[in-house]
Amino acid sequence: MTLECDVCIVGAGPAGLSLAAWLSAQGIETICIERNDSLALDLRASTFHPSTLDMLDELGVVESMKREGVVVPNYQIRDRQGLEILADFQFELISDRTKHPYRLQFEQHKLTPLLAAYLENLPNNRLLFSTSYTLHEAKSTGVVTTAEGPDGPVIISSKFLVGADGVGSAVRTNAEIEYEGFTYPERFFSMSTPFRFEENLSDLSYVTYIADPREWCLMLRTPELWRLMFPVPPDEDEKQTLSDEATQGRLQGFYRLGEDYEVRHRTLYRVQQRVAETYRRGRVILVGDAAHANNPLGGMGLNSGVHDAYNLKNKLLAVLEGSADETLLDTYSNQRRMVSIEHVNKQSAENKKRLEASSPEARKAYREELENITSDIEKTRAHLLRTSLIESLDQASRI
Ligand SMILES: Cc1cc2nc3c(=O)[nH]c(=O)nc-3n(C[C@H](O)[C@H](O)[C@H](O)COP(=O)(O)OP(=O)(O)OC[C@H]3O[C@@H](n4cnc5c(N)ncnc54)[C@H](O)[C@@H]3O)c2cc1C
Repeated sequence: MTLECDVCIVGAGPAGLSLAAWLSAQGIETICIERNDSLALDLRASTFHPSTLDMLDELGVVESMKREGVVVPNYQIRDRQGLEILADFQFELISDRTKHPYRLQFEQHKLTPLLAAYLENLPNNRLLFSTSYTLHEAKSTGVVTTAEGPDGPVIISSKFLVGADGVGSAVRTNAEIEYEGFTYPERFFSMSTPFRFEENLSDLSYVTYIADPREWCLMLRTPELWRLMFPVPPDEDEKQTLSDEATQGRLQGFYRLGEDYEVRHRTLYRVQQRVAETYRRGRVILVGDAAHANNPLGGMGLNSGVHDAYNLKNKLLAVLEGSADETLLDTYSNQRRMVSIEHVNKQSAENKKRLEASSPEARKAYREELENITSDIEKTRAHLLRTSLIESLDQASRI
């Protein structure tokens, strides 16, 4: 099969599909190829920041997301000892900078079908499942992409190729772009339960980070479940971690119940902290996890991937329409790399460091830092603008 389009996108995750939706809505011919036979259903990211909701609102999907999700007006940082609240940040304070002053708890696997449904109504997009990218040949005027489809090879000629194919991006590898950074030695164990912690822990925010020198915890409420995430030491056996006994042990250790927790999902995964050396090589461009990866403390992985797509669509549009030359795409790369390095990776790494701080001095310093921020309204506002990624957008726009 031989096909042609303006932009070929590899990967139907949140970054690839949001880019396809934004470009197709502007009349750009796009083809999005996905190696799996359907959209991913596993439980991954579940937090949407105000800035991301502002962007997705342009696609008209936010009302549906709100109907099915949980609007969270504040987030908390607590200490594991006694679950004392160390800080409570109210998004209302930044309502002059966003139409959505809250975090929306809504699973990633519910966003992608909304985007796919949006695309179905547009004539200039094709979403091809069971079609796996294998290689591309980039020329100065376009890119020829080869994929393996359900009925044999698929050759796609496009003006641009976008790798939205996740952390293990083959597009990035074939474009010979380094993915610089490291993998954390510990793994992250995410589990979910219908137990209603909010009925047992007073004033609990649906987004809560819990500091502890031995075992920090991230608590996120989704519409039906609570998701809890804990670090797992590098030498702990994977089978043992995932066993019922160890899962109950972690949950009971966190909050003791008189009975077993009902556990609906459990995922143990490795987390990387990486940024590609460039997000553009000629007519090949990277977005989302293909371009950067970070730990989930701060909920910035999926969000910054959608921000990449939003930034790129305006620039690709201008280049395709002829109102800007291709160097504008270097601006995309420079802006979004800066955000990954100076905001997303920095904040997520710092969040982890603070939550796991073990020395009494570091723990005291963290408490004092939080007191200092929350005792001053301007500092609290600045903190919210930073953690909601609004500051990163402001800074990128100045490049
Ligand atoms: C287990 C897990 C838990 C997570 N939890 C959190 C969390 O709690 N909070 C958070 O912020 N982030 C979390 N993340 C990260 C978050 O899910 C990612 O940041 C987000 O999915 C990135 O979106 P993306 O579109 O860039 O890539 P992906 O969602 O990875 O999508 C890439 C797509 O490309 C497809 N693909 C790959 N190779 C090819 C190929 N050769 N040809 C065609 N298609 C291809 C894949 O099948 C996939 O559908 C988690 C990730 C994992 C793995």
